[in-house]
Amino acid sequence: MDTMVKGPAIGIDLGTTYSCVAVWFDKHNRVEIIPNEQGNKITPSCVAWNEYEFLVGEAAKNQISRNPRNTVFDVKRLMGSRFSEKIVQNDIKSWPFKVVKGSDDKPVLVFENEPENKNLSPEEISSMILKRLKEAAEAFIGTCRDAVITVPAYFSDKQRQATKDAGKMAGLNVLRLISEPTAAAIAYGIDKSADKNRSKKNVLVFDLGGGTFDVSLLSICEGGNINVKAVGGDTHLGGEDFDKSMVNYCVQMFKKKEKKDLSDNARAMVKLKVACERAKRDLSSTTITSIEIDYLHDGIDFCIKFTRAKFEELNAAFFKMCIKHVENCLKDGNMQKEDVDEVVLVGGSTRIPKVQQMLMDFFDSKPLCKSINADEAVAYGAAVLAANLRGKGDESVKGLTLVDVTPLSLGVDAKIGNDYGMMSVVIPRNTPIPTIMERIYFTVFDKQECMNIYIYEGESKKAKENILLDSFVLHGIPPAPAGEQKVNVCFDIDDNGILNVSAQVESTGNRKRIKIDKKFV
Ligand code: AMP
Repeated sequence: MDTMVKGPAIGIDLGTTYSCVAVWFDKHNRVEIIPNEQGNKITPSCVAWNEYEFLVGEAAKNQISRNPRNTVFDVKRLMGSRFSEKIVQNDIKSWPFKVVKGSDDKPVLVFENEPENKNLSPEEISSMILKRLKEAAEAFIGTCRDAVITVPAYFSDKQRQATKDAGKMAGLNVLRLISEPTAAAIAYGIDKSADKNRSKKNVLVFDLGGGTFDVSLLSICEGGNINVKAVGGDTHLGGEDFDKSMVNYCVQMFKKKEKKDLSDNARAMVKLKVACERAKRDLSSTTITSIEIDYLHDGIDFCIKFTRAKFEELNAAFFKMCIKHVENCLKDGNMQKEDVDEVVLVGGSTRIPKVQQMLMDFFDSKPLCKSINADEAVAYGAAVLAANLRGKGDESVKGLTLVDVTPLSLGVDAKIGNDYGMMSVVIPRNTPIPTIMERIYFTVFDKQECMNIYIYEGESKKAKENILLDSFVLHGIPPAPAGEQKVNVCFDIDDNGILNVSAQVESTGNRKRIKIDKKFV
């Protein structure tokens, strides 16, 4: 890795719908959120091909209804995922742009009339967004290479790897990946450091953004120690889903009234999506709004009134899911809701009144903390950590220590009792990282000379229902009756949440080790 330090280290929130970059600014002794070329502090996570060049950010978003097939958004939902995953297939159906199956079942994005016929990976698209943010930062503070990038707490190892890869492609030296709610908690913790009588506080960060939902339970101690107790959430739940249910409702209404199906009309669908998102925002401050689009489909105008009650009804199941995740996170962190001192809201979708009300009801009318900026807090926290890692900042920044947890259980495929193919957990979810844990496995056949080590991530009891991260074969087991030879399997997770796995035959010391960090070695 290039260890040369160039300029200050930046913090980047690479969001599903919007991204944001921030830096600790020595001169002002505080974090500055860096504006983009248009002067905006958040940049749409959108990339488009307009037959001449790739557009990024506002420029891409602004031409989406004219060029829907070549304007890519939501790409974070594809990071580190497989094309054949059900959830990916569902997303693809609702997107106007084209996603096809690449090598190793990886999704790739196709742009029409792109002369080099380039099919771009989600990492490449994300790297264009990161590059744009890097450029914005450089216009503000001069050359910079080092960055802390945020990821949803519930991101898997593959999704984290993909994010690191995107950073590297953008010319960034990724100092650390940090979970979004943890970054928000840093912003919250720093914000509160002005309080003189600051003591240990249990904080629940509820982060509902455009594409992902994260909930994180942390304790913030005196002196700036932040310990993550448990995380939970859903990497496919957010504002985009609420927009989609509104769009589907509008399609049904149009069909009912006009007897025409507009769902195959990409331009009309994009226009509807844009209008629904705007209406959704309106409904956070008014109880009724209207959606009006001229010449939506076959020259027919579309106009309906949308009430907040209808919006809430359409999305009730999503909102309930959010509360269920909060409940599970408390359970995982061994806490009662009464133990939570503060509920901190992060992410644009927490502006939805129903979400706030359900959360307040769950916490028996506890007021919610809305004092940190929902759009900027994550980048702010990432910038604080970036400064901390470089030994910069004031006392509160320098004093920050962070203990994060593994979001998902990690283990191997093993025989448990009489059942083969079971998930044998080596590191349970919500274990503080960095960590090293070991388990002993016995041979299952007479004269077994090798052992296949399949490494999985997830919570299902059956290994195959979890995500296969990697596999290797450990050779050199001395022939012996079944159950006599022992293999020690060791899982080691570093500060970035990157996993190293080794297996060793106890009797001979014969060892094999892999790093689940393929492109980064
Ligand atoms: P984030 O990923 O945190 O930037 O959140 C972006 C999401 O928040 C998008 O889905 C927006 O539509 C949504 N959002 C932003 N403002 C509001 C609002 N006032 N009411 C409802 N949703 C909003």
